[in-house]
Formats: sequence, C-alpha cells, structure tokens
Amino acid sequence: MNDLVLTGDRPTGPLHLGHYFGSLANRVQLQDRYPMYVLIADYQVITDRDVPGEIRKHTTDLLLDYLAVGIDPAKVTIFQHSAIPELNQLLLPFLSLVSVAELRRNPTVKDEIAHSSQAAVSGLMFTYPVHQAADILFCKGTLVPVGRDQLPHVEVTRLVARRFNERYGEVFPLPEALMGEQPLLRGLDGGKMSKSRGNAIPLSATEDETAALIRKAVTDPDRMITYDEERRPGVAGLLTLAGLCLGRSPGELAEEIGDGGAATLKRVTTEAVNEFLRPIRKRRAELGADDVRRILVEGNERARERAVRTLEEVRVAMGF
Ligand code: ATP
Ligand code: MG
Repeated sequence: MNDLVLTGDRPTGPLHLGHYFGSLANRVQLQDRYPMYVLIADYQVITDRDVPGEIRKHTTDLLLDYLAVGIDPAKVTIFQHSAIPELNQLLLPFLSLVSVAELRRNPTVKDEIAHSSQAAVSGLMFTYPVHQAADILFCKGTLVPVGRDQLPHVEVTRLVARRFNERYGEVFPLPEALMGEQPLLRGLDGGKMSKSRGNAIPLSATEDETAALIRKAVTDPDRMITYDEERRPGVAGLLTLAGLCLGRSPGELAEEIGDGGAATLKRVTTEAVNEFLRPIRKRRAELGADDVRRILVEGNERARERAVRTLEEVRVAMGF
C-alpha cells in the first residue's frame, strides 16, 4: 500500500501560527515524499454559522497562505469541497455506518458547539466528521497531518473505513493522524488558537499588527517569568510561541528573561514572531490572483477525477 497524504482547512479566516506548527510545517516536509491532497473545506464553514460569509475572499487568502509557507502546487493537489459533488454523495452511505450516539460523543464537536455563534445546533455540526471521512477516503488518504482537535475525526474516518470494508468488501485503507511539532498551540487568550475566536496571530499579519496583538495577550502580574503550563497558561503560551519561532525551549527562554516581567516577554515574543514570519510575508507579497485561480481549476479537476473513480468503486461494492 502506497501512502498518500490528505489534509485541509476551513476558509473561515487567515491561517495562523497554530496551523503552521500544528500542520503546515509537516505538509511542507511531506510534499516531497508522498502524493498529497490539500482540501479547502468550504462546505464545512456552515457547520458553526448560518451563512458562509466572505467565502471567496477567505478561499483566496487560504491559498495564498499555503503558497507563502511553501506548499508547492506542482507537487500538491489543492481543491475545494464545493467543486467535488462526489464528496457529498459519499456522505450518504458513510452516514449509514455510524450511530447517532457515536456522533454525539465526539469531544471536538462538543467544544465547537460551546464556541458556536449559532442559536441552534444544526444537523451538519454532528455529521461533518463523517463528511470529513469522505474527504479523506475519496482519495484513499493514509496519512493525515492535523492538530490535536482533529484526532476524534480521524477516529470516525477509521471507523467508517473499517465498517465499510466489513460490510461491502475491502475498499478503503485505515488512515493515520500525524501530529505536528505543536499539536495544540494556545492563542493570545490562553485557549486553542483559532481563526474564529479572535485570539490568533495570522501568518499574514504585518509587523505592527503582530506587535499590537501580542501586546494585548493575557499574562499575569508576577514579574519573575517561569514556564508553568498549569498555573501560568498565558505566560507559557507566549514562551511556547517564541520558543517555536526561535527553535529554542520555552524553559530556557524563561530563565533568560528572568525578572524582566510581561513587558520583556512580549518584546522577545514579538521580535521572534516577526523574524520568523518575515520570509513568509515576503513570498506572499509576490503572489497574484491569477496564480490562485489557475491552481484551483487544476486542483479541482484532478481531485474530481479521483472522487468519481472512488464513488464508482463504492457503488459497485454496495451492489448498486
Ligand atoms: P476555526 O476557528 O474556523 O475552526 P481553526 O483555527 O480551528 O479555525 P481549522 O481550519 O478548523 O482552523 O483547522 C485546520 C487544521 O489546523 C486542523 O488540522 C487543526 O487541527 C489545525 N489547527 C487549528 N488550530 C490549531 C492550533 N491552535 N494548534 C495546532 N493545530 C491547529
Ligand atoms: Mg477549527
């Protein structure tokens, strides 16, 4: 069995440092070793909000972020959910393979419901992990670079693949999640850094925007800087961020800052992040809208071909 990488993001806003250290860095490494598909999960935007919002702008921005960090469209198929109707068709048989109780106990779905802006929880919120199974299985993906919040979803995919194979014969491989260097990067409020939670440092932020964001980060009044995830999540989050950008350990940085207080910690973090993002910003500034359109047209076409073949295999296996 040859390995194939599948991963993706929702076009809900600009990619941030959590994406970088959770998944993007891994993708850039893996693109040289395996065939790889990267999904722009536009249908998934409406899981936790009523309307897709500025979906076109966010799709373009997402693609520019990919290119800026070094994802190479000559090696990687980048495509959109909404361009591949077969993904929605796979959802139907896949839904028949999981129980309502299994859908309800998904811890990531529970967390997302808690942060959702919707008045009522939609059916899609409970079923999107099964849609994700279709995203992974349509191309027979075996390696899935993701952050920690996605682990329950990869489990759902394995469950769907296993049950499909048991009922209808061997069609799908069981994929594995690949976590990055930092599977759960904290945001500037101490919670999971997320596009939709106003606590992120976007990869596309300018130097001044980055400085302003870090200035507002939640810390504590203790001047002595120490690395303590449990008791000082805000300080630990900044130390982790600076450490990742500098390639150094957060504990070592804490010792160096000593009694410099939150102001020194924030200055060190701002400089580290800005230094780290400089080449990414530079590459992003060189890209144009034409590149984006061409890459999506080509990627959608390649992904669609693959999806048509898999859906046909599924139909035959099921006896339709
Ligand atoms: P949203 O708030 O709109 O859900 P998000 O920031 O959670 O946005 P997603 O598009 O949902 O981003 O996730 C894309 C990928 O990035 C997933 O693999 C996810 O696990 C990973 N990821 C997201 N946030 C983090 C984080 N803070 N640390 C590590 N990985 C992350
Ligand atoms: Mg998310």
